[in-house]
Amino acid sequence: MASQARVRGYDPSEAILEIFPREGEFTLRTEDILQKISDHADELALVLFGGINYYTGQFFDLKAITDAAHAAGAIAGFDLAHAAGNVVLKLHAWNADFATWCSYKYMNSGPGGISGIFVHEKHFNNPELNRFEGWWGFRQDRRFLMPPIFEAENGAAAWQLSTSAIMLLALHKAALDIFKDAGGVDILRAKSVLLTGYLEFLISEINQQRGRDIFKIITPRNPVDRGCQLSIVCKQNGKAMFNRLTADGVIGDWREPDVIRLSPVPLYNSFEQVFEVGRILAAAAEEN
Ligand SMILES: *Cc1c(COP(=O)(O)O)cnc(C)c1O
Repeated sequence: MASQARVRGYDPSEAILEIFPREGEFTLRTEDILQKISDHADELALVLFGGINYYTGQFFDLKAITDAAHAAGAIAGFDLAHAAGNVVLKLHAWNADFATWCSYKYMNSGPGGISGIFVHEKHFNNPELNRFEGWWGFRQDRRFLMPPIFEAENGAAAWQLSTSAIMLLALHKAALDIFKDAGGVDILRAKSVLLTGYLEFLISEINQQRGRDIFKIITPRNPVDRGCQLSIVCKQNGKAMFNRLTADGVIGDWREPDVIRLSPVPLYNSFEQVFEVGRILAAAAEEN
């Protein structure tokens, strides 16, 4: 974002407004996000938010943020790297202007996998819109006539710049087909709520048995405000516990200084595996 601001001749420290959790809190309150937007309504061109925060796992109220951005006369755009394939997204219904995501996290297309974009259809035929235009965004039926003026492909396709790697497209198609075979994101999400809720339950059992929060979950407790991921603050011997998980075959993620991120994924993780993770965490807590 800083480099985008600089390219357009702005000083990032003046052009970018950030928002932080309240003192002593880990996640953002929707009311604070909306307040910040309306407080700066006169200055805002773009409200750019993550869909799900990578660190806390918080799923933001994208509809409310979109409405607030529009009320401020700004564009609403979302980075859905951690949300695509994880939660149900209704970008069109929510009236989001645009969104973008990588496909190698919950969408399983492999490292370097093809990225995706959403552009609301209300922007398709806007001749005023400034964008970078490339060969693959040009109308397919007239591309080889090579007229001097850019003629946009209809839809988000107009934002494509150049040739995509065929192997990445093949991997992405295979990944999308698996989602389709599984019945789609709605069905997966229903399992996901139960699966992550089960992990949360097992962790709170361990804390209860130990009489204190050995594993403090900073991800919102309400399933509506999160996806698969639980972020777990582990103040004492966190790294050792994380290494123990890894040694026992649990693929999680460690964030300095003290956060373990675990994401049971409904597409390929079972309740039995989550039970096993709980057992390993309990053993690690016992050892520490
Ligand atoms: C992983 C991630 C990305 C990465 O996107 P690329 O397409 O690999 O550049 C972007 N934003 C967030 C928040 C991410 O977690």
